[in-house]
Amino acid sequence: MLIDTHCHLDAAEFDPDRDAVAARAVAAGVRLAVVPAVEVANFAAVEALAARGVPPLPGTRSTPYPVPEDGARPEAAAPSTAPPSPPLPAGPAGPRAPSSDTPAAFAPPPDTPPPLGGLCVAPAYGIHPLYVPGASDADLATLATRLEAALAGPYPPVAVGEIGLDGFVPALQAPDLRARQEALFLAQLKLARDFGLPVILHIRRAQDTVLKYLRQVFGKGGSPGGIAHAFNGSEQQAHAFLDLGLRLGFGGTLTYDGSQRIRRLAATLPGDALVLETDAPDIPPAFAPRQRNEPAHLAAIAAVLGELRGLDPDEVAALTSGNARAALPGLAAYATP
Ligand SMILES: [Zn+2]
Repeated sequence: MLIDTHCHLDAAEFDPDRDAVAARAVAAGVRLAVVPAVEVANFAAVEALAARGVPPLPGTRSTPYPVPEDGARPEAAAPSTAPPSPPLPAGPAGPRAPSSDTPAAFAPPPDTPPPLGGLCVAPAYGIHPLYVPGASDADLATLATRLEAALAGPYPPVAVGEIGLDGFVPALQAPDLRARQEALFLAQLKLARDFGLPVILHIRRAQDTVLKYLRQVFGKGGSPGGIAHAFNGSEQQAHAFLDLGLRLGFGGTLTYDGSQRIRRLAATLPGDALVLETDAPDIPPAFAPRQRNEPAHLAAIAAVLGELRGLDPDEVAALTSGNARAALPGLAAYATP
C-alpha cells in the first residue's frame, strides 16, 4: 500500500473526473492521499474531500455510511480511551471489507460505487506561499479556528500545510511580499507548535531561511515533525532537515534522468528520510510529461525509487508508508490497509 503524501485532489483540474482519478489511484495501490489546502478559500473543499473518502476506523471518526436502524454505531460502544484499531484489510476496488469490529450493516450496498473510488483522504490546512498576496491576517485567525474545530471533528488534520517560502516566483520576491511570506510562515509555524501538529513545507530557493525559522520557533532540539515536500535542496540541507526531525518528499522529479542531485539523494539518504508524493496535478513524471499529473502515477514513481535503492515494490511501499505515518502520526486515524 502506497501513501501519496502530497496530492491536490481538490484542484479544479480534477473537477471533470475526480472519482475516476481516485479509483485509478486505488487500483495502482495508492490507498491514502494527504490533501493539503493552499488558502482559506479551499479549506471547505479539502474537508469535503476527506468526508468522501473511505470510512474511518471504528472509534476514530464518524462514518459517512448509513447508521443501522437501531441507531447503534460501533464506535459508540468503544471506550473513548481505547487505542486505535490496527489497520484493516480492504479489497482492491472498494471500502474496507466487513470485519469483526465492522458490522456488515455498515458496508454500502453491493451496487454502490465506493466513495471517491475507495481512496482515503487525510486533510491538512494552511496558507501556501503562492497565495500570500491574497491572504490577510484574518486568514490566520480563520486557520486557527479551522484547526481547532477540525481536530475535534471527524476528519482531523494531519498537518499544518501547505506552508513555506517561495524564492522562485519573481512576483513574490518584491521586498514587501517577501516580508509578508516570512511573516505568514512564521505565524503558521507557531500555530503548528501550539496545536502540536507536524508541518508540510513548500520550499523553493529558501531552504536555509526555512531552517532558520524552524529553529527559531521550535528551539534547539525541537521539531514540529512533518515533510519538506518536493525536496530540491543540497545534501547538506537534506541532513539539516533530517536533523530537525522532518522527512523529505520525493516525486515525479525522480523519474527524470537529468535530476541527478535529487536521484542521488533518493538513492543514498537514510531509508527513514524518504516519503513519496505526486504533487498532482503538478510535477508530471517523465513517463507522462506535459499532462495533468495524478496520484495513480505514484506506483511508477515508487518503482523508480526501488531501482535507485535496490528495493522491490513491496519493500518500497513498506518503507515509504511507514515513514509517512511516522512523519504524520495523525494518519493513524485514516482507514487504510
Ligand atoms: Zn502542493
